[in-house]
Order: sequence, then C-alpha cells, then structure tokens
Amino acid sequence: MSALPLPPARRSLGGSGITTSPLAWGMWRSEGSAGEVARLLHAAMDAGIDLIDTADIYGWNGTSGFGDVEALLGEVLRADPPLRKRITLVTKGGITLPTPYDQSRAYMDAALEASLTRLRVETIDLYLIHRPDVLTHPQELAHFLDDAVASGKVRAIGVSNFTTHQIETLADLLDTPLNVTQPEISPLRIEAIDNGEMDQAMRLGLTPMAWSPLGGGRLMRPESERDRAVGRALGEVAEAHGVDRAVAAYGWLMAHPAGIIPIIGSQNPERIGEAAQALTMRWTREQWYTVFAAARGAPLP
Ligand code: NAP
Repeated sequence: MSALPLPPARRSLGGSGITTSPLAWGMWRSEGSAGEVARLLHAAMDAGIDLIDTADIYGWNGTSGFGDVEALLGEVLRADPPLRKRITLVTKGGITLPTPYDQSRAYMDAALEASLTRLRVETIDLYLIHRPDVLTHPQELAHFLDDAVASGKVRAIGVSNFTTHQIETLADLLDTPLNVTQPEISPLRIEAIDNGEMDQAMRLGLTPMAWSPLGGGRLMRPESERDRAVGRALGEVAEAHGVDRAVAAYGWLMAHPAGIIPIIGSQNPERIGEAAQALTMRWTREQWYTVFAAARGAPLP
C-alpha cells in the first residue's frame, strides 16, 4: 500500500516568502476575556501553530459586535508585545452586515485601517477578502489589494469563498500575486477538491486554508446518514493511528497535494494541543480514498 508524504514542518503562503505552521488556529468562535483568548493562543503556539486566523466580522451577533474579536486579539498583543513577531496574523474584510458585502475602494480602505487599529498592529501578514462582492468591479478590488501591499500595511493577500472564475479574474487583474484561497473544505465538504479549486490553487501557486475542517463540529455530532458514514471511515483510520477523529480530519486534509492548511476552530486548549498529532499521520492512498468515497456517498468509479 503506497503511503502519502507526511505534511512538511512549514508551509509557504503562496509566493509571499512567509512561512507558517501547516495548521492554523481560527478565532471565529472566540469570546470572553483577553486572558481567556491569550490562553487559547498560547495553547496553539505550544502545539507549534503560529498561523492565527481572524476577521473583522468575528464577534458580530446579529446586531452588534463587529470587530470585537479583532479587538480582543489586539488586547492580547498589547499585553504581550513580543507575541506579534511570533505569529502570522490573518484577518479579513469585505463583509458589512446587513448590507452584506462592500468591496468598493472607499469601504475597503476604511475597513483595513479599522482592522489595523483594532489589532494594534502596523502590518497584517495576510489580508483576505472574506466573500465576493459581485457589485464591485474586480479591477477596483485589485487596485485596493495592490495598494495595500505597496503601502506595507499588508504583506500577503488572498480571497475566501470565491469561485474559480472570480479567483482567475482577480489574479489576472492584480499586479501583486495572489497568495492564498480560503474555501470551506472538510471530509464533509469536498466540493473544493472536486470542482477545480484545488487544481487552480496548485496552478496559480495559492496556498489553500480550509475553514470548518470538522464541518463546524458536525463530524463529531453527525446529523445525517452520510455524516455518520464519513465519521465511520475517518474513525477507522483514527483508531489505527491512535488519534481522535478530529485529528484524522486535519491529517486527511493535509495529505492532499495542494498543501491545505486546516484552520482549527476549537476553543478548547486540550483539543487545540492534540491537533498537532495530525502532523505524524501517514495516510495510505487506500485510507484516503475510503474517506473520499464516503464523502461522495458513492463508490469511486
Ligand atoms: P471546525 O473545526 O470545523 O469546528 C469547530 C467546532 O467543532 C467547535 O465548536 C468545536 O468545539 C467543535 N469540536 C472540535 N473538536 C471537537 C471534538 N473532538 N469533539 C466535539 N466537538 C469538537 O471549525 P470552525 O470553527 O467552523 O471554523 C474554523 C475556523 O475557520 C474559524 O475559526 C475561522 O477562523 C475560519 N472560518 C472562516 C470562514 C470564512 O468564510 N472564511 C467561515 C467560517 C470559519 P470546541 O470549541 O468545544 O472544541
């Protein structure tokens, strides 16, 4: 049985020259005090995870809270200044609820400034456009991103939840190379593997970051027969490796040749710490395809 390569100890963010851990930790579900968030951030760093994913919209509860999670992270960085240099900081802009999207030049310029202020940093390592605003011409967005990099406010750029056509168009119009794409990918959500997005990432040199790598926790709390089948397939490999099913899901994503970086969404320090076990999981092709076939809900042709 041929084994797939282990994930590398470091990943590059596209051609940006920035290298990071092959796992990221995400702050979508972060709340509480700066002290509590600092504890989780340190759990990630103790596990070797230095890629930290947030967004200006995180903290929004339907009526208020826009920017709250960035502000919490800003508090953590203010209390511990050397931390800034030890992490690769990712944030996103372009969603403004209830509009819901605005990527006009004026809006994005203000959104980027607001993120820098809340995070209390001079530079964002990776700035992502959170979801496409189809009412902004991609040339206008490209100018914003080019200028954000040229000004030194942003080191690397990317998109999230863009279609392959939207990625292609923006990449063509940018002077600065696009570095990252962030779709939802998990053993429960395999579209990005099947619809050409991972192939495009490999062709354009984009590093994929997978959001909701456990299907938002559904892998652990299955809701359908398909969820259960995927969980069983993953569970068998997890058991063989002596790891949790969540860890196996991260390993499954990292075994894909596009170099996918799973973003751990857990806010539990023990689970964050365990995630690094995925780096030692060596998948066989057969194991990988068994999970893939369960995700498709049909045997592979
Ligand atoms: P996820 O890892 O798929 O789901 C996390 C959820 O699963 C948490 O509620 C967690 O609970 C639960 N969980 C984890 N391990 C578990 C286990 N062993 N048993 C039971 N429950 C478990 O990720 P996510 O939070 O949905 O997303 C991850 C990150 O992706 C976010 O933080 C954010 O940075 C990013 N994201 C980006 C977008 C985008 O549009 N770009 C959208 C969504 C998310 P505990 O906290 O209790 O462990």
